[in-house]
Amino acid sequence: MPRGFRQQINPLGLPARNGYPVRVLTDIKSLSREELEAQFKVWGEPAYRVPQLLDWLYARRAASWEAMSNLPKTLRAKLAESFSLQILELARKQGSPDTTQKYLWKLADGAFIESVLIPANPALYGEASDRHTLCISTQVGCAYGCRFCASGLDGWKRNLGVHEIVEQVLAVERVCEKQMLEARSLMLDKAAEPDAEVPPASRIQHQASSDRVVNNIVVMGMGEPLANYDHLIKALKILNAPWGGGIGARRMTISTSGLAPQIRKLAVEPMQFRLAISLHGATDEVRNRIMPVNKKYPLHELVNACEDYQRVKGRMITLEYILIAGINDSLEQTRPLASLAKRLYAKVNLIPYNKVEGLPWVRPADEVCERFLAALEKNGVTATLRREKGGDIDAACGQLRLKTERELKSAPLPG
Ligand code: SF4
Repeated sequence: MPRGFRQQINPLGLPARNGYPVRVLTDIKSLSREELEAQFKVWGEPAYRVPQLLDWLYARRAASWEAMSNLPKTLRAKLAESFSLQILELARKQGSPDTTQKYLWKLADGAFIESVLIPANPALYGEASDRHTLCISTQVGCAYGCRFCASGLDGWKRNLGVHEIVEQVLAVERVCEKQMLEARSLMLDKAAEPDAEVPPASRIQHQASSDRVVNNIVVMGMGEPLANYDHLIKALKILNAPWGGGIGARRMTISTSGLAPQIRKLAVEPMQFRLAISLHGATDEVRNRIMPVNKKYPLHELVNACEDYQRVKGRMITLEYILIAGINDSLEQTRPLASLAKRLYAKVNLIPYNKVEGLPWVRPADEVCERFLAALEKNGVTATLRREKGGDIDAACGQLRLKTERELKSAPLPG
């Protein structure tokens, strides 16, 4: 048996219980197909069992070993003994099916993370529109402490495991599937009523049996993705693999606050992920004020790393720019921003700030945002202004988690 697959002592650095280290099984969704094949070979299981298992994990999104009915009981028992099959527990959900939906997940150790599903994404990262984009988290909390962000307010707790990154996609799809089935059964009930004006049952059936709900991923949720590099890349490979998520690498966007060395590392990855830079300031003066990471990797270093990335990848970069009133929304910023964007052949996404409770920053007036956009366009830059969704549902990264944790602290749940 390949070493390290069976039982690892505390691989996520979870606290010890009663003075003893917690024994944690490696989760099955942290493993590649090759690793599973090696494991099955050691067990003497036939090779065709691996695709069967993968089908249960990624196509059918099975939530338990028992559900995997075409695997022999003995194999299921071996799997259960050797690996965990962790499912994210939905702690809270905000939004309605036709708008941005925010999911707050409770992890096995009780920590919370967020994912946001954005239906009919308006081609923000160069992909086709009318897609379901899922924004996923990569860490619990964040160490980078951007001044405007809720995710970093309580600091960094830990990196997410590969399976916890992958599971966000599957867990959202499980919830959507349940919603679709409920809607379908409601429609079928209505269709049974005399003189009902609902679509024919055949159409309802078709609508309910759609395949992958998520077809775009943006790694822009809680945490700095490139600070959890190895887990992130492995998770995205699993989500991309035809035996896994089957989501194209060009439909996956990794966003970083500006970790220059990791940007260069990403450049030599064979996968064609998209790269977005959370810029939020076009001069060191502005970035230093709101993004401590800029003191470590100032703009000239970040831009050099982006140029190296482009030389290797030949791919367009997106610059994210959250507009914050009185901080980075003056027209003076548009000139250096335009020159950076042109130097990097980058597109600029302007995002009006989402208010975070407890932080002093506010969103600029709509006219200010429009003027900023117009000035960039006048300078020959391709830019979009997000007439943003989700402002009413704590959609800025980390807000729902923070709110829930604070509520739990002031009124803990029984037990
Ligand atoms: S913006 Fe990103 S990098 Fe900055 S604190 Fe928030 S999660 Fe961390």
